[in-house]
Amino acid sequence: MKDKIPFVDLKSNYLSIKEEIDKSIQEVISKTAFIGGSNNPFVNKFENDFEAYLGTGNVVSCANGTDAIEIGLQALGIGIGDEVLVPALTWISTAEAVVNIGAEPVFVDINTTDNGIDADLLAEKITNKTKAIIAVHLYGTPANIEAIQKTCKAHNLYFIEDCAQAHGALYNNQKVGTFGDVATFSFYPGKNLGAFGDAGVIVCKSNKVTTIARQIANHGQEVKHNHLRIGRNSRMDGIQAAVLSIKLKYIDQWNKARIDNANYYNELINEDYQKPIFDKHLKSVYHLYVIKTDQRDKVLQALAENNIATGIHYPQALSEMNIFKNKTTCLVANKTCESIISLPIYPELEQSIIAEIVSVLNGINK
Ligand SMILES: *Cc1c(COP(=O)(O)O)cnc(C)c1O
Repeated sequence: MKDKIPFVDLKSNYLSIKEEIDKSIQEVISKTAFIGGSNNPFVNKFENDFEAYLGTGNVVSCANGTDAIEIGLQALGIGIGDEVLVPALTWISTAEAVVNIGAEPVFVDINTTDNGIDADLLAEKITNKTKAIIAVHLYGTPANIEAIQKTCKAHNLYFIEDCAQAHGALYNNQKVGTFGDVATFSFYPGKNLGAFGDAGVIVCKSNKVTTIARQIANHGQEVKHNHLRIGRNSRMDGIQAAVLSIKLKYIDQWNKARIDNANYYNELINEDYQKPIFDKHLKSVYHLYVIKTDQRDKVLQALAENNIATGIHYPQALSEMNIFKNKTTCLVANKTCESIISLPIYPELEQSIIAEIVSVLNGINK
C-alpha cells in the first residue's frame, strides 16, 4: 500500500525552522522563564509582536483559544442571564465558552458562501437579553463582517470575532481580529499559527476591557498579591510564546503557500464538487480546504482506499447537540454537515500530491 498522505504535517513545518526554534526554547529554559504573567520577557515579546502583526488592538495572552473566548466575554461584562448569538456550525468552543460563563448561546444558521453566521437571520434572534454576536471566520474565511457589525450597532450589541482558524485573513484588506470589540485567537498546534502546546490571545479594542481581561487571565491580580476580582489561571507559558514569536515571522509565507495550494485544487477539481471560491473582498487563509458533495460517503471511501487522510469539520451542527439548552433546527448547517469534506491543505503540501488527490476525486464514478 502506498504511503499515507497525511492531513497535516507538523513535523516538516518544525524541521523547516528547527535551528531557530530549538535555540529559542533553550533560551526560555536557561532563563527559567516558564510561566506567563506580567514579567515574562518571552510572553511580553509575543504580545507585542502579535499586536504589531495585527496593526491595532491590545493583545492579552492566555492559555488557549477557548479560554480566550470565555475571558473576552467576561471582560465585556457578559454573564448569567445574557444571550449570545453563535453560528450553528463551528468548533464547540465558541458555544461552550458562552455556557461556561453562565450565558446562553443562541444558534443562528450559516450561509452557503463563507459558511459563517447568516447576517440576514440575526435580527429575528435578538431579544432584550442578547448582549453580543460571535462571528467565526470558519475554515480561515472571513465572515460577513460588515453586515454583522451593522446589526450589532443597530441593536447595541458587542461584536466578537472568533479568529481561531483565521490568522492573517483579510476582509476588505483589513486583518480579521481588528474589527470586533473583542477578538480571540487560538494557537493550538494545528492552527495556521500553532504553538508547541496550547496557547491563545484575546484582542481588545478598549483599554478598559484590556485591563479586565488581563486581570481575569491571571487570578484577578493587578500586580502580584493585589486581587481585584475573581479570576482564573489562564496564562501563556514562556516556551509557547518563544515558539510563536519565531513562527509569526513565517505566517504570511505559510498562508501564501496554503492559498497557492487552494488555488491549485480549485483549478484541478472538476465541477462535480462545490469548491471554496470567494469574492475578492475576502482573503481566506485556508485553515481548511473544504469541498462539498452530495455523494460524500462514496467520495470518502475512495479517498480512504487511496490512503488519503481527510476530515469533516464538523459532522454535527452545535444547534443539534443535546448538551445545549437552545437546541434548534438550522437547515443550512445540517445540510453542510452532511456534504463537507476537508482535504489536506498544509503549507508544505506539494503540488504533485494535490494532483494525486484530485485524480482520485475526479475519477470517482458518480
Ligand atoms: C480551535 C478553535 C477554538 C479553540 O481553541 P483552543 O485553543 O483549542 O481552545 C475556538 N474556536 C474555533 C473556531 C476553533 O477552531
